Amino acid sequence: MAKPNLCQSCGMPMKVSSDFGTEKDGTPSEKYCHHCYQNGEWKHSDLTFDEFYALSLKKFQESDMNRVEKFFLNKMYTKKFLKKLERWR
Ligand SMILES: [Zn+2]
Repeated sequence: MAKPNLCQSCGMPMKVSSDFGTEKDGTPSEKYCHHCYQNGEWKHSDLTFDEFYALSLKKFQESDMNRVEKFFLNKMYTKKFLKKLERWR
């Protein structure tokens, strides 16, 4: 199985084409998801790192994950994890 593409901004696994963000010319971004990046621009460019982290965590918690997935999310989705992604290096 191929490794899932993680959004290099928020860490969301991107599986289907609608998960991916878009470049200015409409082509899909290979690195960023549609929550973070659309039409070649950041959607939350005004947020600080901490604010972005809080927003992303909330987004995942509100998504349709089961309880086991949420348990792991809360363990794994830390600021340290986010800092490893390309956007925050
Ligand atoms: Zn993202």
